[in-house]
Amino acid sequence: MRFSDFYGSGRFKYSFEVFPPKDETGVVNLIAALKKLAVFDPAFVSVTYGAMGTTRDLTRDLALRVRHETGLVTAFHFTCVGADRESVRAYVHRLKQEGIDLVVALRGDAPQGGERPASDFLYANELVSYLKEIDGFSIAVAGYPEGHVEAPDKETDLRNLKRKVEAGADVVLTQLFFDNRDYFDFVNRARKIGIAVPIVPGIMPILNLKQIEKITKMCGASLPPSLRDKLQRSGGDPEAMRRVGVEHAIAQCRELKARGVPGIHFYALNKAESVTEVIRSL
Ligand code: FAD
Repeated sequence: MRFSDFYGSGRFKYSFEVFPPKDETGVVNLIAALKKLAVFDPAFVSVTYGAMGTTRDLTRDLALRVRHETGLVTAFHFTCVGADRESVRAYVHRLKQEGIDLVVALRGDAPQGGERPASDFLYANELVSYLKEIDGFSIAVAGYPEGHVEAPDKETDLRNLKRKVEAGADVVLTQLFFDNRDYFDFVNRARKIGIAVPIVPGIMPILNLKQIEKITKMCGASLPPSLRDKLQRSGGDPEAMRRVGVEHAIAQCRELKARGVPGIHFYALNKAESVTEVIRSL
C-alpha cells in the first residue's frame, strides 16, 4: 500500500489520527470510535508516537490492534529524535513484517525543557532517506502552514520540507490550522518551489478552549481571535464549546473540499462524535 494510492486523479479521502490511550478502557473506546468512523471509508488511521519513543510499543501494539479489530488500513508515526540506525531498522522491520508499510516519518521533539539527545538523525529528511534505504515503506511527512516553531521563517521551513520530499516522502500531512488562508498560501508557496506531492490539510475539531490553547501553544498554530471569543462566550460549557469546534471545522472543511484538496486528515482526539458530525454535514 502507498499513500499515493489514496490521492490524486480527482480522488478524495479522509484519514484519522489517533494516539495510544493510557489504559485498556481507552483502547476499547478508541476501537469503538474507529468502528463508527469506518463508515466513511477512510484511507488510513495513523497512530502517533510518544515523544522520544515513550509510547513505542504502545504505538506498534495499537496500530496492529486497530488493523485487526477494525480492518482499516493503518499507518504508524515514528520519530527519530534520540534514535540510532539499528534500533530504527529493527522497529520498522517488525512492523513491515506485520504488514504495516505506511509510516509518518518525523523528527519529533526532546522532552520539555530537555536537551536534544544524541541521535543518528538530526532532521526528519535524514529519517526519510534511511527508511527509503530500508525499502518497502511509503512515507508521509509533516508540513507546517504557519511555519514550524523553530524555523527562522516560513520560507526556510518550506525549503526544509522540500528536503523531506526529495528524500522520498509521498505525501505531506499538515499541522492543524484554523484559518484556511494559511493552508492555501502554504500550498501555493510549496508548488512554486517544486513540491509536487499531495498536501493533505490537518483539521482538528476543537473540544475545549483550555485544551486547544495548550495544543496551539505547543505546535505553533494560531487560534483566530474571533474563534477564541466564541469559545470564551460558551462560558465553560463543554457541549457549547464542542459545538463551536464542530461548526468551525465544518466551515473549514466545506471550503477545503470545494477548492479541491486531496483529502482531509482529522486530528480526531480518539473520539468519533465531532468528526462524524463534520463529515456528515459536508
Ligand atoms: P523536521 O522536518 O526535521 O523539522 C524540524 C525543524 O528543523 C523545522 O524548524 C525545520 O525547518 C528544521 N529543519 C528540517 N530539516 C532541516 C535541515 N536539514 N537543516 C536545518 N534545519 C532543518 N510528534 C511526536 O512526537 N509524535 C508524533 O506521532 C507526531 N506526529 C505528528 C504528525 C503530524 C502530521 C505533524 C504535523 C506533527 C507531528 N508531530 C509528532 C510533531 C513533530 O514531531 C514536531 O513538530 C517536531 O518538532 C518536528 O518534526 P518534523 O518531522 O516536522 O521535523
